[in-house]
Amino acid sequence: MEIMYSSTRNAANKLTASQAILQGLAPEGGLYVPERIPALDLPLDELPKLSYQETAYIVMKKFLTDFTEEELRECIRNAYDEKFDDPQIAPIHKADQAFYLELFHGATIAFKDMALSILPYLMTTAARKQGESHEIVILTATSGDTGKAALAGFADVPGTKILVFYPKDGVSSIQEKQMVTQKGENTCVIGIRGNFDDAQTGVKNLFSDEELKEQLDQAGFRFSSANSINIGRLVPQIVYYVYAYGRLLGAGEIQEGYPVNVTVPTGNFGNILAAYYAKQMGIPIGKLICASNENKVLFDFFKTGVYDKNRDFVLTISPSMDILVSSNLERLIYRLAGDDVKKNVAFMRSLGEKGSYEISEGMLKNLSDFVGGYATEEETEEEIRRLYQKTGYVIDPHTAVASSVYQRYREDQKDSAPGLIVSTASPFKFARSVMKAILSKEEEKDDFQLIEELSEISGVRIPKAVDELRTAPVLHKKVIERSEMKQAVKEFLGIEE
Ligand SMILES: *Cc1c(COP(=O)(O)O)cnc(C)c1O
Repeated sequence: MEIMYSSTRNAANKLTASQAILQGLAPEGGLYVPERIPALDLPLDELPKLSYQETAYIVMKKFLTDFTEEELRECIRNAYDEKFDDPQIAPIHKADQAFYLELFHGATIAFKDMALSILPYLMTTAARKQGESHEIVILTATSGDTGKAALAGFADVPGTKILVFYPKDGVSSIQEKQMVTQKGENTCVIGIRGNFDDAQTGVKNLFSDEELKEQLDQAGFRFSSANSINIGRLVPQIVYYVYAYGRLLGAGEIQEGYPVNVTVPTGNFGNILAAYYAKQMGIPIGKLICASNENKVLFDFFKTGVYDKNRDFVLTISPSMDILVSSNLERLIYRLAGDDVKKNVAFMRSLGEKGSYEISEGMLKNLSDFVGGYATEEETEEEIRRLYQKTGYVIDPHTAVASSVYQRYREDQKDSAPGLIVSTASPFKFARSVMKAILSKEEEKDDFQLIEELSEISGVRIPKAVDELRTAPVLHKKVIERSEMKQAVKEFLGIEE
């Protein structure tokens, strides 16, 4: 049965999967949601026999119903290949009675690779299906991680170009190095003099520039976005929850049908929403534990039913979770409101105007699958140190937030169900914070010395993605003012005035 996608802000706007992937965000600002969540329709004991790629096919074909089998298999083959340094793609590491689902074995050693390695293929396939003759130009502003993962995903994918703007002094030196050494004929990386907001506002202006759109159209290009509200990023994230259940079952760690609690370090609410969809497909997931850092808007929301972004923004050692507006939460709100566009629009308007909204008592009750938790900076460091000292396993600060929240949940609730902790970044990506946590003091060493030390104490080889950076040539040197962004786009695309 075909699954259609409708906008959370306009019930009349219904698209097929490939149309929704091409469009990204709905014109009225809504997010596309599947009209229903398909059942997995597979006995659970079949799961342990499936590879990651086979699991991906079974899950994704349920959602992307207008893709043919051949198209989908081709996308999966192109995405989940030797770019990943583990043949299991998403292996599980057991430590201190918990199961760490490692989503950092892709090209940029963070979990965004799980979706961004397949999105380019889903997009170009969708474009072909829709008879779109224009080349896709991905335009992104990044605070660090997403930009690099998008670059790695789109590099040398035929029919696409990608241009990433980053704040020149607003990303870490490793992050900058990762981006400016990006290979690929179709890639371009430019530093902006300003902060992340400047870069993001600049990109938003480019997207809504009608004159530029017209010029692009004539030159045979169309803009698109790779950000996390695209349904083509959400669906591939459901896969690893299904796969993880199969692996645990196959290893005899759980009995068939028994629930697993899942803890997710959360920022934009994409990853944990995918776990919720996996549960609705029929995977036995107990609690969905939403872990925040000190920017704990979601923790407060789950406790009180009030979403309130009016608060100080805290810079933490888990920067990918430093978010005050979790854009994917809108998809859950819409569902809790009974797929009622009017109610959802009222909440989102309130968020836009007052910076807050409050859901009803009834909606809050329906949130009982979710548990909110948060870890302070101290607790996060303490968890890295504790787990390392007890087991020798080293986790990154984002994963440590989840791990800390999970430990507290298990103690407080006496819930003995197995716990799956989603591990979203390699500790090598945050070697400085990780080494400081383990040694309880800051060291006067450069990034690569710390990376080597981390490798020694953990017994884990330095990932290729990090090792390569030492010698990789800088290929992108351009730094511009915000006012020059439009010109830079035209130059990159070879559009004459
Ligand atoms: C993006 C990111 C997150 C947050 O994921 P969401 O889907 O936005 O909730 C957590 N950890 C890392 C390392 C990330 O890059």
